[in-house]
Amino acid sequence: MEAESREWLVRCPACGHERSIWELGGVRYKARGTKWIFRRCPACHQVGWHLVYRERDGVRLPPLRPARPLWWYVGAFAAILLLFVGLLVGFLVGLFLFLGRASAGPRDATTGSFAAVVARDSAGAHDRLSAAQRGRLGSQGRAPPWGAWEGARGSANGFRVTGFSSKNGRTRVSGTLRYRDGGTEPRTVWLIREDGAWKIASDP
Ligand SMILES: [Zn+2]
Repeated sequence: MEAESREWLVRCPACGHERSIWELGGVRYKARGTKWIFRRCPACHQVGWHLVYRERDGVRLPPLRPARPLWWYVGAFAAILLLFVGLLVGFLVGLFLFLGRASAGPRDATTGSFAAVVARDSAGAHDRLSAAQRGRLGSQGRAPPWGAWEGARGSANGFRVTGFSSKNGRTRVSGTLRYRDGGTEPRTVWLIREDGAWKIASDP
């Protein structure tokens, strides 16, 4: 094993300095072909890819070329790192924009629906209901149940969306309903898409 390891030479690409794998404290046994290892040369102190080869294999040695300085490798590493960071950031921004676009319609429909209800805009609130909800609630829409609710709880003054999910064709928007007295309350509505528009399909 020692004899075989001593046959394997490690050659600096810059100055041609050679030492055996064995001298480097390594072992190469029952191996074939050549390989490259990244090293600093003890003779010329350049870093680079050193060829590991065996003289009796008749390997054609590459011509000597001045090694790239260390800063070149540092720069290359930094460039690759920057590229990966850039790709990651790009991916995350793309995902964020995609999710934002997917949720924009249901969020706007929910916000609009609560705004209409809070403003006692019966027609506007009615328009934002799904066909099934319009049929169920009748021409008065959400106005009567909402009036009863506000009579008991106090007037609301706004709604802020805090969550969105769309799974298995079920789209849900959740948020916080604010009251004039400063109180808040979580609310969740389900939405469906009818004639290209998002409509409220549940009792909010
Ligand atoms: Zn060298």
